[in-house]
Amino acid sequence: MKAPLGFSSTCIRDAKDALTTPPHQLPIYATSSFELESIDQAMAVFQGREKGHVYGRYGNPTLDAVARKIAALETHGLELEAEALLFSSGMSAISTLLLAQLQQGEKILTQGNLYGGTTELFLKVLQPYGVEPIFTDLRDLDGVEALLQKEPDIRLLYFETPANPTLACVNMDALVKLARAYDCKTAIDNTFCTPYLQQPFRFGLDYIVHSTTKYLNGHGNSIAGALVGRDAEAMRGPIWQTMKLAGTNCNAWDAWLINNGLKTLALRMQRHSQNAQTVAEFLNEHERVARVNYLGLPEHPDHALATRQMRNGFGGMLSFELKGGLEAGMQFMRNIEFCTMAPTLGDVDTLILHPATSSHLKVDQAVREANGITDGLIRISVGIEDVDDILLDLERALAKR
Ligand SMILES: *Cc1c(COP(=O)(O)O)cnc(C)c1O
Repeated sequence: MKAPLGFSSTCIRDAKDALTTPPHQLPIYATSSFELESIDQAMAVFQGREKGHVYGRYGNPTLDAVARKIAALETHGLELEAEALLFSSGMSAISTLLLAQLQQGEKILTQGNLYGGTTELFLKVLQPYGVEPIFTDLRDLDGVEALLQKEPDIRLLYFETPANPTLACVNMDALVKLARAYDCKTAIDNTFCTPYLQQPFRFGLDYIVHSTTKYLNGHGNSIAGALVGRDAEAMRGPIWQTMKLAGTNCNAWDAWLINNGLKTLALRMQRHSQNAQTVAEFLNEHERVARVNYLGLPEHPDHALATRQMRNGFGGMLSFELKGGLEAGMQFMRNIEFCTMAPTLGDVDTLILHPATSSHLKVDQAVREANGITDGLIRISVGIEDVDDILLDLERALAKR
């Protein structure tokens, strides 16, 4: 008989789960490392001959399960395969992709109206390492081709469609064809749409990034990101390696929260789109509103393009221009009661932001306006509440001076 363990050793030994039936819900593997069965198995796993987990920064079963689900959604109904990894934030997914894909002296071709953090990452972090971003209007396809021709060091074309705050779109099909002709990889930030509304792989994109913080999670309770790629060798090779060495991995708890949110993604995106369409039509008729930017309105300049690239609706994001500039914008925000004032998007509740006095307060007015962020612009991430409550709040806020 084995000698019984001491009290302290009994405390320390982990409780082993005596599962007789599998759990119905995804378990959270809260462990920093994995127990290796034998020296032979350890060697096989370390050498990559055998599948298995080693250390939490390299991978974890909870993360793998959720990453596989996101890859399955981005390839759903398409005859292709992709792999995904989860990251500690959307920014960390983007920076890992760029660190893994670009060498010193190489260039990124991109647009001016990106998510602000991404623009700053390009300019303040990557540029000092010798990776130069070139900002251009990606709707000008001749201009894009001229740049690709002139600058053979452009190795990545990176864009957002639709983009903040005017929801301007770029033509994915045309851009991917151009990039391919010049042997340049393509990446899109698909945060605003999610695969329910837009599957960039249909248009031949190489990489898709997400801030899962927004719609994929949908409940505003975790910061995380995802990267999905069709090139399995790159995903398992340099990208995974950069993630594990830079330590940009997600953790099991946040992955679990994303998984919980994902269960209702289709229902949420349907309701977000429905409510946003109703709100956009209401604002469009209002006398105090100069202009509404929503892709579901036939008068949006990219309505036709979005109809071709998107499906199942036009999403929950919209913005509108109040008559009366800065003062009108500030007064409107003071009048809001039901909707939440918060600098995020994609949550189940309606979120309102006045970029000129919040997210873009420190941005030079000329730069701001060049990207469509005027003094009277209000951005709404329309939630999935009863739409009448949202309409009533907006109506009241617009009426009160
Ligand atoms: C929020 C956001 C990001 C950054 O994601 P984090 O999870 O906050 O790091 C990137 N792109 C878009 C479009 C976003 O909305």
